[in-house]
Amino acid sequence: MSDFQFTEEQIERYSRHILLREVGGEGQKRLMKSSAFMVGAGGLGAPALLYLAAAGVGKIGIADGDVVEISNLQRQVIHGTPDIGRSKVLSAEEAILRINPECEVHVFPERLNVRNARRMVQGYDIVLDGSDNFPTRFLVADCCRFEAIPLVSAAVLRFEGQLLTVLPGEGNPCYRCLFPEPPPPGLVPSCQEAGVLGAVVGVMGMLQTVESLKVLLGIGDIMSHHFLLYDALEASFRTVKRISDRACPLCGENPSITELVEYDVTCTTTSSETS
Ligand SMILES: [Zn+2]
Repeated sequence: MSDFQFTEEQIERYSRHILLREVGGEGQKRLMKSSAFMVGAGGLGAPALLYLAAAGVGKIGIADGDVVEISNLQRQVIHGTPDIGRSKVLSAEEAILRINPECEVHVFPERLNVRNARRMVQGYDIVLDGSDNFPTRFLVADCCRFEAIPLVSAAVLRFEGQLLTVLPGEGNPCYRCLFPEPPPPGLVPSCQEAGVLGAVVGVMGMLQTVESLKVLLGIGDIMSHHFLLYDALEASFRTVKRISDRACPLCGENPSITELVEYDVTCTTTSSETS
């Protein structure tokens, strides 16, 4: 791993990581040579992107087709009031580079779809899904399965959050082992319809980041066989065991899904793409 030497500034910048036995100099170099792709520069993406950059992840890709709106600022803390009307990916890129100018940022000011998704995430070491709608969530999950990229997926509504990590390969349950199909449009309200406590989105975005850094570093227990549920009002975390489903439409014995599926996004979201 040691094909480069830290500068003195890097040793200082990352000293609190390097002090950790589980990270150390080798782990820090590993992070600096790794890449992460964030779907959505919204409520989940905001803390995730800031901490990935601060942690020294070498390359960060971001996809989001939206511009910053005033109603985003209650939770999307990577953007500020002067950013209203600006592209979210450009606003996020600026914030990332302010924290860590050594980070290589690739921005895609567009929504993921069946045509661009695989091309965008190809070559990244991990994908974090911070989208706020089911069509995109399933698209990202299928895409990561086909591209064999680890995925950390999170979702938030009102005072509750969910998180799961999907690792590629046999024996690892995929996203569709738990959720075979998206719910019918309109069944589950969006944050725009139902509201969300901004800080709860922050908690889930941070958990996504911690989980992603663990995957990149190869340390700790990964949520690859569990599903995490956070209830902010109860102040409780629950984990539910997840297993591979032999009848899974994506990774089962007779998969019916062999390429990306286009779901209708128009009736599940309106103006806001990311929670
Ligand atoms: Zn599956």
